[in-house]
Amino acid sequence: MIAVACRAALILALAVTGVCAETAKGLVTITFDDASRSQYDFGLRLAKAHGLAGTLFVPTELVTESLTPGGWTMTWDEVRDFQAAGWEIGAHGRTHMHLPGLDPTALADEIEGAAADILAQTGVAPVSFSSPFGDFTDATLDRIMGVYQAHLSWKGHGGRNPRAALDPRLVGRLEVIESMSSAEVCGEMVESARDGTWLVLLFHGITEGEPSDYEVSAAKAEAIFSCAALLQAGGIIEVRTVRDALSEVGGTP
Ligand SMILES: [Zn+2]
Repeated sequence: MIAVACRAALILALAVTGVCAETAKGLVTITFDDASRSQYDFGLRLAKAHGLAGTLFVPTELVTESLTPGGWTMTWDEVRDFQAAGWEIGAHGRTHMHLPGLDPTALADEIEGAAADILAQTGVAPVSFSSPFGDFTDATLDRIMGVYQAHLSWKGHGGRNPRAALDPRLVGRLEVIESMSSAEVCGEMVESARDGTWLVLLFHGITEGEPSDYEVSAAKAEAIFSCAALLQAGGIIEVRTVRDALSEVGGTP
């Protein structure tokens, strides 16, 4: 039970003092889907600058061995740079296909093949899977959960997952889009501390140019990361990878 005074401080985001550290902590996870170049060029740099690490979901056959002209994905060396910075590497299929409707062989290739690729390239078996396009069925979920310990959807729970009765098959995320203010996303982090939920954020591309539908500006990402770092320093939230958050909420890993 959070003391009333402490709860009020959390609501107002005033207590960046550590006062509430012993009684309440929000749990926040930053995720990137797609392993795009912009996530490497801006996302990793900005997250590192604020001492944050999250989970990078990689479509393993779209990641290249070396930089290709005009290529939009990062290389395996760059994925390993995320790993070296403390990021968890999760799977996002092999070729970023809609999983429902694939025949069993193709489905196994996307789900089990992606796990094999990540193990081979990083030395660590992945435990988290994000369905491309957020597109899944009970059948694809069953197959995913035969290999992984958690499945992240595109949306769900407004991104604030119940810790007490977490369903690792359906970890919901809040997709951060350019029309959201950084204050709004920061407020969601404070709310996760107030109500004891696990907030999972999803970023696609991050750009210094004009953001498209699937991008946010680097300035917005930086403001959000800055807020997360400040709240973490104040003992209000903990920023964890999906793997580490699962162990905190009593999940399998
Ligand atoms: Zn994707």
